[in-house]
Formats: sequence, C-alpha cells, structure tokens
Amino acid sequence: AHGRQVNFGPGPAALPTSVLEEASKGILNFQGTGIGISEISHRSKEFVAYLENLKSLIREQLDVPESHAIMFTQGGGSAQFSAVAMNMLSRYRLLHPNAKAEDIKMDYVVTGRWSEKAAEEARRLGGGSVNVVVDSRKYSATGKLFDNIPPHEKSVYNFSPDPALICYCENETVDGVEFSHEPTSPAAFPFDLLPDAKLLPLVADYSSSFMCRTIPRLADHAIIFAGAQKNVGPAGLTILIVRKDCIVDVDAAVKFGASPVPLTLSYKTLFDTNSLYNTPPVFSMYVTGLVLEHLKALGGMPYFEELNRKKFTAVYEVVKKGAQQGTFQLKVKEGSESWMNVVFDIPDEAAKKRFLDDAKKNGLLNLAGHRLVGGIRVSLYNAITLEQTLQLVDYCNKFLEDEL
Ligand code: PMP
Repeated sequence: AHGRQVNFGPGPAALPTSVLEEASKGILNFQGTGIGISEISHRSKEFVAYLENLKSLIREQLDVPESHAIMFTQGGGSAQFSAVAMNMLSRYRLLHPNAKAEDIKMDYVVTGRWSEKAAEEARRLGGGSVNVVVDSRKYSATGKLFDNIPPHEKSVYNFSPDPALICYCENETVDGVEFSHEPTSPAAFPFDLLPDAKLLPLVADYSSSFMCRTIPRLADHAIIFAGAQKNVGPAGLTILIVRKDCIVDVDAAVKFGASPVPLTLSYKTLFDTNSLYNTPPVFSMYVTGLVLEHLKALGGMPYFEELNRKKFTAVYEVVKKGAQQGTFQLKVKEGSESWMNVVFDIPDEAAKKRFLDDAKKNGLLNLAGHRLVGGIRVSLYNAITLEQTLQLVDYCNKFLEDEL
C-alpha cells in the first residue's frame, strides 16, 4: 500500500502501515479536538491523558512493578549514556558521603560499539573510574572483534564489589550480538555473577530490543532505557524505566562531591514534572502510543516473542545455508546472535553488490551493514511481518542458487 517497500533498516525503522494511516488522521485532528497532534499543547488534558495511557501500555505489557517509574525524555540512547552516569554517581555520593572519587567505580560490560560508547562517555564525565567488567573482543578468534557474548564464568566477568552502576547493552545493534533470553544459555546475561546488593545499580541499554519480547529480570534493574525509533515509534522519544531509589536529589549530592547535573538530564526533574519539565516530543509520543496499542491488540509480548523468534530463525537458517555453501560468511558466534539485527557478510565484493542491488529491485531495502562493520545487516524489528521476512528468505534462497 502507498508504494511502500520493505524497510530492513536499523533505525529509524519500519512502522506498521495501519498505525501510520491512523497517525495521519491525528496529524490533522487529534482525538476530535480540532487541533493536530503536532499543534496541541502538551499540557492539554487530552495530551496528558494520552501520556498516562502511554505509561500504562508499557507498564502492563512489560509487567513493570510499582517500584519503578516510567518516564519520557529526549536525546536518545546517547543522552542516556551521560544521564545514567551522572544520576548514578549522584546516588552513590548520597549513599557514601565520604567516598573519594578514586574509590568510585562505574562498571561497564563491553560487548559491542554501543556499550563501548557508553563506557567512553562515563570516562569523559569522570566522577569515578570506569571498570571494564569484560571486553568481549578478548574472546574473539582475532582478539579484535565484537562477535560474541563472553563465557559465563566468574573469572571472565570482573564486577566491582560495590559499583555506582553496572551498565550493559542488551542488543548490540551494529555488531549483531545479543544476550540470550534462554536462562540456561551460556550467552544469557550473567545475573548470577553480579555483586550482592539488595538494590542492584544495574543499567540496561534496550535501545534496539525494547518491547520485542519480555525483559528478563526487569525488576532487578535500576534503569532501563531505549530510544523509540526501532521497535516502538519515531525518533525523538526516549523511554525510561527507573527504580525509584535511583531518582535522587542531584543538587543535594553536590555537597558530597558529585558534579551538578543538568536539569534536563536529572531523573528527579522528569519524575517531579511527570515528564513535562520541558516540551516533550508530542508527535513521537503519539505515534508510539498507537504502536503500543497495536502491539497489545495483537497479543503483547508473548505474541511478539514468538513472532520475532520465527523471523530470526527463518533468516538465520538461510544465512547458515549460505555460509555452508561458501557464499555468505557468519560474523557472530552461534548462540550470541541478535534476533533484531542479523549481521553476516558476503566476502565477494561483486556478489555483495549484486545482493544489495537486486534486493533493492525486489523492494527489499536497507540491507547494507553498518559502515564500521560492512557486510549485510537485516533488522527485524516488530513492524517487519513474517510475510516480509519470508520474502527476504526467498530472495536469499534464489540468490544462493544463482551463486552456486
Ligand atoms: N544504544 C543502542 C543499542 C543503539 O542501537 C543506539 C542507536 N542506534 C544508541 C544507543 C544511540 O541511540 P540514539 O541514536 O537514540 O542516541
């Protein structure tokens, strides 16, 4: 419909056509107010009610306990790299008023480019030192590749005893590496190896895997953050799930040595103002609300977990077949693959160009890998249907036959 093609891009990414059709009505007239969604006051009773419903749609579908607040902000995952470090350092200072900066540790689990960037930002901001809990490149064959989730062993994950925060990236969008959701898988996040603490300072970047399935051990997290622009909406909106003990008075922490936190990055500001300290991205929140209603109507997280498993399995099967044939090359260790971003290579440059050009002719767009990684990346976010996935699988099968 509407001349739309299949968009396998990594984000901003495909959105359900039915949602976009509905959204086009709201652009002209939001809920019969006579005013379009991009024109309405964020303090109008209609929009505030919409915001409350948006929170409920997330709380219900992810089963977020009352111990955690759901908040909205801007600046994407990148702003959260800064906000997480600053808010959690302030929290640590309030809990340990006599701490010296050199004793404060910020733990980063590095499994790809995004967790590496998060660690870099924490280093830049200072206020404590960054402890790289593990760098997964060490466990690749060349020592240089982000192609695996490291072995699930105490000697591998070097957590600090009492860190200000522990940050990991659930799904590495660029490298195509993800923690497994099978609790018994060696590639599952090592919850059992974390330091003992009643209130773990555990932070997860869910930018590219938010609401594509349930979140394991959600209640044990201090902070979960995600940009909307992959699985649930347009760019411009960042979703936060923050345990209430991490919503701290950042100004009070300054007298104990914490750096001042910009008000727009402070979780307390967002919490105290119901995410309306400044003008929020009303349009992005509107479309995200429609997407979340759509997810709920289809059966919520159990439905999408099953669907996304099928999509990943179908694509991975043909990728493996192509690798056996020698046309494709796997890039991620078995068991560590991302469901959302399937990354592989076509080592023959001419064949790769043919693959991408012909895919485009067949209406299958944005399959080129990230510029730092090259190769192919198939992003299979929620809005990609099983039919569209099978269209790509058929295309790959035909391509592989031609390359034989
Ligand atoms: N984390 C992950 C896992 C991402 O995929 C991205 C964006 N691709 C980011 C963080 C950065 O998000 P943003 O561009 O919204 O700042």
